[in-house]
Amino acid sequence: MAPAIKYTKLFINNEWVDARSGKTFETCTPHDGTVTARIAEGDKADIDLAVSAAKAAFHRNSEWRLLDASARGRLLNKFADLIQRDTQYLAELESYDNGMLIGFAMRNVAMAENLARYNAGLADKIQGDTIPADGEVFSYTLKQPVGVCGLILPWNVPILMFAAKVTTALAAGCTVVVKPAEQSPLTALALAALLNEAGFPPGVVNVVPGFGPGAGSSLTHHPDVAKISFTGSVEVGKLIQRTAGEVNLKRVSLELGGKNPLVIMNDADLELAVRTAANGVFANQGQICLAASRLYVQSGIYDQFVQKAVDFAKNIKIGNPSDPTSRHGPQIDLEMMTKVLGYIEIGKQEGAKLMTGGDCVGDKGFYIQPAVFINVTDDMTIAKEEIFGPVQCILKFDTLEDVIDRANNTNYGLVAGIFTSNINTALQFSKHVQAGTIWVNNWLVYNVQVPFGGFKDSGLGREKGMDCVNAYLEVKTVTVAQPKKL
Ligand code: ADP
Repeated sequence: MAPAIKYTKLFINNEWVDARSGKTFETCTPHDGTVTARIAEGDKADIDLAVSAAKAAFHRNSEWRLLDASARGRLLNKFADLIQRDTQYLAELESYDNGMLIGFAMRNVAMAENLARYNAGLADKIQGDTIPADGEVFSYTLKQPVGVCGLILPWNVPILMFAAKVTTALAAGCTVVVKPAEQSPLTALALAALLNEAGFPPGVVNVVPGFGPGAGSSLTHHPDVAKISFTGSVEVGKLIQRTAGEVNLKRVSLELGGKNPLVIMNDADLELAVRTAANGVFANQGQICLAASRLYVQSGIYDQFVQKAVDFAKNIKIGNPSDPTSRHGPQIDLEMMTKVLGYIEIGKQEGAKLMTGGDCVGDKGFYIQPAVFINVTDDMTIAKEEIFGPVQCILKFDTLEDVIDRANNTNYGLVAGIFTSNINTALQFSKHVQAGTIWVNNWLVYNVQVPFGGFKDSGLGREKGMDCVNAYLEVKTVTVAQPKKL
């Protein structure tokens, strides 16, 4: 049964309101493409209202600013409790709106709860330094919230991204305007309702669904927004970095794409490597920036690996994401499905060999069979561009030296991984590959305690981990004249 859709309006100043224009847009379920709800479509006028609510909530005498830091932490913990209470509902809503497998959605909700708790703990541990500065002075630093933050979310893991950005900004003491992705706006609204229930004061969190060029762009241009945190495509990320400097100088954090190399050495645990590589590229139908989308297999085990990888992919059970026995669901929408099928065609045309999958499944919804390409070479489009679909590209290599250069020969630098039983090989790879995360004998391990972000075009800044709040803080130096002698 479809989950109840309780919220379809904009959430501004702790109230549910229609868009000023009265406009709405459709959201669909990727399982069969049917429209499930009409959502209020925010645009500039609504972003102006939301930003002014967030600005008022950030005023030095506001209820929010007068709270103790530990009280911010308690509110975040309350939010985490509510996420925990509603785990099943949130996961069902996410799966329905986004098409992700229900099991994957449950793990995402659990991670969102963990993020809220982790950041709750950080709230009252934000502290500056006392500094032995030269001269007749006493100097110290304050770490203060940067102000109103515009948080622009992607469609692929909406709950997780909402939690990562919103709870960090709130731990820092900022106020926020969230712009969920137009393809999957429902869970951001459900989470806004939980923040309201938790007791966050009006204006601290505002959620304005809408489109990129409308609501998104209005946020990045708004003079009262101090910071933008964005997760999405490299193309829009670069645009946002430019725009963020046009009106005022906004701080910018960017989590962008990846074309992530996973290297399997001859001495790897083969069964584990095959399974992990497949899960690494097919998870969420390949719609994660962490996908193991360039799979380098050493020549000594190449044929054996390919055989097992093809068998694995053929046996993945495709089905309705709400069915807990399904192992592969639909792509988000027709546009993305068409794009992925286009890449599969290009792969074939450029000479890669499609060993299995790559066709649409059924006559409704946006399902694609997991595809495995072999004989892929570095110059092929499918080895260079982020496909964001269930396409495993297997490339052959001979030496570690060679594969490290090939792994680095890209503008991306998000994550990378290696399977080997040789510690020296693992350490050399970890040292020399340009990526924000290196996984050794694992992939997709994504804990709240560790920083995450990209080198090169994969992003700017880090989310998660102890330092994540720094992206939402300014450091202020205070120097007080103080004679050395009493
Ligand atoms: P994708 O290509 O995967 O859909 P995008 O990078 O286009 O990802 O979108 C990610 C998020 O950025 C979405 O919330 C989208 O609405 C928003 N967005 C798209 N274009 C802009 C823009 N010009 N300014 C601000 N936000 C944008």
